[in-house]
Amino acid sequence: MPIDAPQTSTANARAFAPGRTLRQGAKVLPEHARGHNRALVLQTLFHQGAMSRADLSRETGLTRVTISDLVAELIADGFVAEIGVRESSGPGKPAILVDLDRSGHRIVGLDLSGSDTFIGAVLTLDGNIVARREVALPGADDLVATVVELARALVADSHAPVLGIGVGTPGVVDDHGVIVTAPNFGWAGFDLETALRRALDLPVLVANDANAAVLAEYTFGGAPDDVLLVKVGRGVGSGLLLAGQPMRGSRFAAGEIGHVTVGTDGGPRCACGKVGCLEAWLSVPSLTSRLAEASDPAAREGVLRDAGERLGIALAPVVGTLDVSEIVLSGPTELLGGSLADQAVETLRARTLAPSHDDGVRVRMTAQGQDIVLRGAAVMVLSGQLGVS
Ligand SMILES: [Zn+2]
Repeated sequence: MPIDAPQTSTANARAFAPGRTLRQGAKVLPEHARGHNRALVLQTLFHQGAMSRADLSRETGLTRVTISDLVAELIADGFVAEIGVRESSGPGKPAILVDLDRSGHRIVGLDLSGSDTFIGAVLTLDGNIVARREVALPGADDLVATVVELARALVADSHAPVLGIGVGTPGVVDDHGVIVTAPNFGWAGFDLETALRRALDLPVLVANDANAAVLAEYTFGGAPDDVLLVKVGRGVGSGLLLAGQPMRGSRFAAGEIGHVTVGTDGGPRCACGKVGCLEAWLSVPSLTSRLAEASDPAAREGVLRDAGERLGIALAPVVGTLDVSEIVLSGPTELLGGSLADQAVETLRARTLAPSHDDGVRVRMTAQGQDIVLRGAAVMVLSGQLGVS
């Protein structure tokens, strides 16, 4: 029986979207070197801020000539700007500082994961939101038209060239932005990315909302290279980075932990028909209705502890298998942030082997609040269009 040839291609380069490279692992071919070097310059300025061409040469390991050439090209393209000279005490000509032209282009981010609204924002290249819009969730027949209209309005709000449009959506999304399945919207095998690109005539990148969220946490939230982000809203999903690489899974459904059954003692009935799914314990509607039924503070504490324990049970094998160092929770802090997170940590520690006492997995709330998917959508565009993440 023939054995498949070893994979030498950039297998991870399209983890969520075209051209995505969070951590470049593959060998760089000569014909890709210029694009790679260009991304390296942008990436260095993105993370370290203004510096001279000599600094850039030292930081990137590229020659002064190559740097001068690339910087000239990036200035002409409007991605880099000269921003003045460095204060200098010594003799000689003061160095000219260059930086990412953070306001020279804009990114449009859309978050389709809300229960009642689609939200969108205009972002600068460093992920700051400068304009927002939201629209009520439309009926099933008007979904795409509503998304297009929202994106057009935001492009009009941008007042600068738009680098691209990033979209975080519920459902399983393949690496070409095709919605494999999104039951809430009735989408199956629907090429949302192409539909939006044709309507808007701009680069569009579409990914699952939790996968977008973990990118925001990685780029803007200081998450480590091995991190799982659990997103709790109307449903429950997660996004996973390992060694700085997004994990998509064999059928693009990595991280879909919402319908894993936790425990053998039954539990609430889930929208999918099973009982005791993680989502049935943990989703915002489920937590809210069980808290409303609780008669006193002790009963409410019990509801949160119970949900935290179920989360810990669901995550323990994941932590044990993958050795992620941090779990980030995204959702309403008043539900997730206190007893629920504490109990999840306790359960996780009881059910996994920590290398040493203080080395257990960390569980924390995101600091990105409700903007996490919008900012993750911006990272998709930065990564896809500029190679910056
Ligand atoms: Zn379920």
